[in-house]
Amino acid sequence: MEASVGSAKLKLLQGDITEQGTDAIVNAANSSLMGGGGVDGAIHRKGGAQILEECRLIRRSLPDGLPTGDAVATTGGRLRAKKVIHTVGPVWSGGNNGEPEMLERAYRNCLALALKMGIKTISFPSISTGAYEYPVEKASRVALRAVVDFLGENTGIEEVRFVLHSKHDLWIYEETLEGEKLRY
Ligand code: ADP
Repeated sequence: MEASVGSAKLKLLQGDITEQGTDAIVNAANSSLMGGGGVDGAIHRKGGAQILEECRLIRRSLPDGLPTGDAVATTGGRLRAKKVIHTVGPVWSGGNNGEPEMLERAYRNCLALALKMGIKTISFPSISTGAYEYPVEKASRVALRAVVDFLGENTGIEEVRFVLHSKHDLWIYEETLEGEKLRY
């Protein structure tokens, strides 16, 4: 599915984010930046050791790790994407502990960093909805709202892709983008 937001394109597709040829891909990392499971593991496996090397350098100035909602960039290593933007989504703990705000911040900070770096095309995974257990339907509303708002407020990013790993997640994101659910 594809939509226009101002002069930018918003695309929803099922696939593997490590195979995307956008200028950057986003990693749903953990605060250690030292790799993990899910999309994080896939990105480090395919991108190679240079990504972890740059994460180690970043950690020197962030001894306590990357705070939830912040974003940093490294090389894409051997990936098609030249850059990986690492962010940390919130762990779901019922929804009344600032999770929506933190998730929104994660998306916005990735986009703001991308804009600053001159990145024109970027792919996101569904941040927080794997190991961090954020319900995907709720997460899709926050994610799509954050991206649509950002693209409405800023020019320079030409394409944002959501690369959903499962057909089910793609369907949920499509429903949210299509339906009234985005106007919350
Ligand atoms: P988090 O810890 O933020 O929840 P996860 O990596 O556990 O991050 O999960 C986030 C989402 O990324 C999940 O929906 C998961 O299915 C998905 N995912 C895992 N591997 C990939 C991949 N290679 N490409 C795109 N999405 C992926």
